[in-house]
Amino acid sequence: MARTPLLMGNWKMYKTVAEARSFAESLGQQSAALVDGVEYAICAPYTSLHVLRVMLPANVKVGAQNVYPQKEGAYTGEIAPGMLAEFGTRFVLAGHSERRMLFNESDQMVNHKVRAIAEAGMIPVLCVGENSSQKQDGITKEVVTGQVQQGLDGLSQEQVAQAVIAYEPVWAIGSGKTATPEDAQYVASEIRALVADLFGAEAAASVRILYGGSVKPDNIASFVREADIDGALVGGASLEPSSFVEMAQALK
Ligand code: PEP
Repeated sequence: MARTPLLMGNWKMYKTVAEARSFAESLGQQSAALVDGVEYAICAPYTSLHVLRVMLPANVKVGAQNVYPQKEGAYTGEIAPGMLAEFGTRFVLAGHSERRMLFNESDQMVNHKVRAIAEAGMIPVLCVGENSSQKQDGITKEVVTGQVQQGLDGLSQEQVAQAVIAYEPVWAIGSGKTATPEDAQYVASEIRALVADLFGAEAAASVRILYGGSVKPDNIASFVREADIDGALVGGASLEPSSFVEMAQALK
């Protein structure tokens, strides 16, 4: 089954609304360079989601970086899935390593988020990856498959088929170091094999698996040419419209 490649930016806690507007304007002026046959998305701070939704070119979707897995209630400071879905948020990240590390998010909490995102009709982007000591201990596969199994628990086959899994080695995020394309492909193929075991061949053939961790215009092609890697989740290099466009061009 052909999977549509996905180029997804993660802006983390960068850009004011004015800066997001100017990014969207600039990307709009270069939209002819966003090659067809690829899906694009920007996961932005909540405050910029509306302006991006209104101003980004139509083929660039909006994603959120977090959500609280309850419909509504006394959860001061949190945002519910339905609030994001209401105005057209397509993707929501869950389990990004910065949230796992800085905000102590457990696999169980990540799973609650993944389920809540899917139930609200949006696409969960489940982020998984080993840290440097786990890599040194040679337990990357066990760590990553454990996170995937727990993260997707309770989803239907259809929900998994729609979902996105981002393999992001923690040591590669924001460090300038990347996995080798061969190592990333190996982990992606193990993720797909696990999804086949748990949810069936059709879901495994449809679920999109991204690589993330210091992806840039000059290395993105080496990852997405691998058989089980369907695109990239990009932090730093997604902040400039010119490098977003260069990465899109590399997916031709
Ligand atoms: C990320 O934030 O998910 C990420 C991969 O960041 P960077 O591309 O900057 O390493």
